Amino acid sequence: MTDSSQSSDQFKEMHSFMAMLQNLDVGLVVLDREYKIQLWNNFMESHSGLHPYEVREQVLFDAFPEINRDWFCHKAESVFQLNTRAFTTWEQRPYLFKFKNYRPITGSAQFMYQNITIIPLDSSVGVVEKIGIIVYDVTDVAVNRIELNAVNNELKRLSRTDKLTGLYNRGYWEDCLAKEFKRAQRTEQVSTLVMFDIDHFKKVNDKYGHPAGDAAIKNTADLLIMNMRETDVAGRYGGEEYTVLLIGTTAEQSMTFVERLRKSIEDSVVQYQDQKFKYTVSLGVAELTKNIKSHSEWIESADQALYQSKENGRNCATIYK
Ligand code: GH3
Ligand code: MG
Ligand code: MG
Repeated sequence: MTDSSQSSDQFKEMHSFMAMLQNLDVGLVVLDREYKIQLWNNFMESHSGLHPYEVREQVLFDAFPEINRDWFCHKAESVFQLNTRAFTTWEQRPYLFKFKNYRPITGSAQFMYQNITIIPLDSSVGVVEKIGIIVYDVTDVAVNRIELNAVNNELKRLSRTDKLTGLYNRGYWEDCLAKEFKRAQRTEQVSTLVMFDIDHFKKVNDKYGHPAGDAAIKNTADLLIMNMRETDVAGRYGGEEYTVLLIGTTAEQSMTFVERLRKSIEDSVVQYQDQKFKYTVSLGVAELTKNIKSHSEWIESADQALYQSKENGRNCATIYK
């Protein structure tokens, strides 16, 4: 084989190799030591709208001001100096190059999510003179993951809440109470538990029907939410039993809230279809003291005070002593 035919073969091989690189479905960019663009493949051209001749010899950060220079240089310098690869994923940074997302199925994404690999190049004499950036379009994976996370968060929220009232359900609320019990014990901070129950609710159901009873249960929860503070933790403890944890509040201090809540329920009118009716609640209040040894004892204390309110004629509140 002659020298010229050998170099012609090598040239052909090189040519097809370059054609393959150009047409890969990933972005390929080569940068020199000054971060000037040396290679820009078809993928980069079609997504950026910039031809290779428009970007060649341009400093990456001039051509793409949205790239965080400090962050990118920190990554790239380790590739230059240590002759090792560097990676970033879409979870760490959604993209390096801000490209619009054109994919029809992942249309919900505004831009292309990218995983990036930076590889050392031209290190024949032990010095890395260029680096290659490989840009992977991972929009499909990212969008699926983001949607899955949203669904999981919604499921978590649903598993904590009571459907009728939107309050925390008993299980989740008790978990919160147990946590608060430990926290308040450790920090010796005040906390007060309020439990309340609708008076003569069986009669409401009997007289107006179960769906009307449900409307009263919902009305009570709405008034509770309206009257409590954002830091208070409220739950539906049972059928027509409610609990509120007033963090950082003494029993005495809680009485303003308790009275306001009792009065607003007493004053409210439930309308269900063409029926209108009124009802009241009885409340029990228990501040956390040293004598209370567990979160269940705390509940029992509030429940005893509630029972006392029922004994005292209902539509009133009692502080546990
Ligand atoms: P008291 O004043 O002593 O509390 O009398 P009460 O009739 O309210 O007695 P109790 O609290 O024991 O009764 C609870 C009733 O609440 C019994 C049950 O039929 C009803 N109930 C429980 N859950 C629901 C619910 O989700 N919807 C409706 N409509 N009624 C419920
Ligand atoms: Mg009850
Ligand atoms: Mg009741």
